[in-house]
Amino acid sequence: MDKEKVKKLAENPEFIKSIYNYCDRWCERCPFTSRCLNFALGDEQFADPESRDITNKLFWQKLSETFQVTLDLLKEAAEREGIDLDSLDIEELAGEERFNEEVAKNHECCRAAKVYSEMVDDWFDSARDIFGQKEDELNLNVLAEIPNVSPFGESDSFEDAVQVIRWYQHQIYVKLMRAIRGDLEEKPEIFDEFPSDSDGSAKVALIAIDRSIAAWGEVRNHYPLSDSDILDLLVHLDRIRRKVERVFPDAREFIRPGFDKIHLNS
Ligand code: SF4
Repeated sequence: MDKEKVKKLAENPEFIKSIYNYCDRWCERCPFTSRCLNFALGDEQFADPESRDITNKLFWQKLSETFQVTLDLLKEAAEREGIDLDSLDIEELAGEERFNEEVAKNHECCRAAKVYSEMVDDWFDSARDIFGQKEDELNLNVLAEIPNVSPFGESDSFEDAVQVIRWYQHQIYVKLMRAIRGDLEEKPEIFDEFPSDSDGSAKVALIAIDRSIAAWGEVRNHYPLSDSDILDLLVHLDRIRRKVERVFPDAREFIRPGFDKIHLNS
């Protein structure tokens, strides 16, 4: 796809501006796919199943095309804004970015989120045996046709909870890194006029934490034997949530385009 095609696609008034900046990237579950430029671009660019296979040459070709188009559009936008990209001190900018990255990595919220993602891996590793038992238990219930037991329903809610936990396991850290880095880069005088991007990222992280807490609650119902480990995870998540709310007190109020606001058009 070339940049003219991207620009043409972006003209569709049905798309909600910037909706993809504050979503959880779970397109399979998103009610806004038809209103999202990012989804439409991916659909168009990776329509061929071979182009979605990371081991296929076509995948890398399409990815390289995407980078080239993004670069072309960036250059065009810079020209429009009168920014001379060649005059930028790349070394200095990269140095600032490295510094901010380090500060963010060492921030209490990010450190705690990193620990959480490792705790999740540990839990799933240690629960491997219990998973087998659970599967057997569900199968036995079907065979025995035990009254008042709904194994499929139970299994569905459990599977859904596991999917939720896995989806947000690393995303909480990624979104918090973006929020903290953004906070370091944003200029305070701009906040009066525009909502802060770091609040938006922090809100996405908070929602991921809320959903993960609910999902762990569901897993806990299924695995009373693992109660103390799950309680540790819940306590840890709750601490992260409180830290994030303290560092980003306005995050919950941030309005995510589309998700928090009805858009009749963009
Ligand atoms: S807004 Fe929805 S469709 Fe678009 S990238 Fe995010 S999750 Fe996917």
